[in-house]
Amino acid sequence: MAVVTHPKENPWEVALRQFHRAADHLPLKRGIREFLAYPHRELTVNFPVHMDDGSVRIFTGYRVHHSTVLGPTKGGIRYSLRVDLDEVRALAMLMSWKCALMHLPYGGAKGGVACDPGQLSRGELEHLTRRYATEISIIIAPDGDIPAPDVGTNDQIMAWIMDTYSMHRGHSVPAVVTGKPISIGGSAGRREATGRGVMIVAREAARIRGVPFAGSHVVVQGFGNVGSVAAYLMHDQGCRIVAVSDVSGGIYNPAGLDPRAALRHMQQTGRVAGLPGAETVSNDELLELPCDFLVPAAIEGQITQANAARIQAKIVVEGANGPTTPEADEILADRGILVVPDILANAGGVTVSYFEWVQDLQALFWSEDEINERLERIMVHAFNGVVELAREREVELRTAALIYAVKRVADALLIRGIYP
Ligand code: NAD
Repeated sequence: MAVVTHPKENPWEVALRQFHRAADHLPLKRGIREFLAYPHRELTVNFPVHMDDGSVRIFTGYRVHHSTVLGPTKGGIRYSLRVDLDEVRALAMLMSWKCALMHLPYGGAKGGVACDPGQLSRGELEHLTRRYATEISIIIAPDGDIPAPDVGTNDQIMAWIMDTYSMHRGHSVPAVVTGKPISIGGSAGRREATGRGVMIVAREAARIRGVPFAGSHVVVQGFGNVGSVAAYLMHDQGCRIVAVSDVSGGIYNPAGLDPRAALRHMQQTGRVAGLPGAETVSNDELLELPCDFLVPAAIEGQITQANAARIQAKIVVEGANGPTTPEADEILADRGILVVPDILANAGGVTVSYFEWVQDLQALFWSEDEINERLERIMVHAFNGVVELAREREVELRTAALIYAVKRVADALLIRGIYP
């Protein structure tokens, strides 16, 4: 099994470098810049879980609020062995910029538990989730901090968090998490929202680059919530999905794969490898395949100084958070490869999460068509705004998106003032 073995760059250092690169373009007072470079609040919890074999294991979890300036904080919860405080900090900061860029009334947060969810039974996963939810319930709330799914978590885990929080309050509080099942207050369109947003910005990027979208060749790394939906929605637009992968490796067919068949195969066997009619490739090889679009949709730190010179895509659309390191960004820019940055490309998820939260608070639900139309409008508007600013400032899309977002948070901070 070809497991990816990239050395992990410190994601918090990467997030800070990206922030400072954008902040250099803004006339920020030193104190404001410094304040934005710190997470506002960090919680670490070590907690016990009863395992099926009768033993008790201690797990470590985190919840970080990066910025509370624009509103309650919003951000996913990740279950992965790679989770540590620096990763959660970095992802929380990215959420602040993402929400600001999309004009959502939220600050940024992130959470995670260091664990391998694939090695836990359903019962163990439920115990772990309910205990973690209880531990972080001192800083989550429908008007304070609203978690959502991320790598290794899903709608069932959100349901357990919502139920646990509600049990402690004595009444149902659906708005405390988003990405829930529809039967308990989830939103139509949320499951597909991040992948749909990826498809929309890919289409827009194709438009500005003059690449015909239908018939374009697409490589997708990571075949979870984001990657699989992006793959089949791009396929529905006439794109040719030539390669996809999961953590254990990838599959390639230059004539095109059927992403829905790959999804069924993965659901049956636990991996994409082995799909009839496709050859096997490693995750490293997959990133360097010839294509028009490369969609990294797995984890951070995948396109680095080590492989950026060999990326053959014309356009990189960052489904994942932080898949490209700052050094790789420079190499890709020098080579004329357009990178649609994470805070724009994968913002469809938090945008429909926002719709879910609004619907829960109002107890009034919208149709899927209404959700998808609003998402389309917001994504296209944000994309055009970033492209325009990038042209004005003569910077790459990532720096433009960050300049826009950081300015919005800094302006709000200035007008609120420093307490006391
Ligand atoms: P997921 O757990 O549903 O899927 C992750 C996929 O990546 C799986 O196919 C997994 O096998 C694969 N993967 C994991 N580690 C890998 C590795 N080392 N190399 C190659 N593949 C690997 O997660 P997701 O929700 O689809 O999230 C994927 C990325 O998108 C993350 O960076 C996440 O932060 C980001 N994101 C997710 C959402 C969302 O709504 N779910 C929203 C915005 C951003």
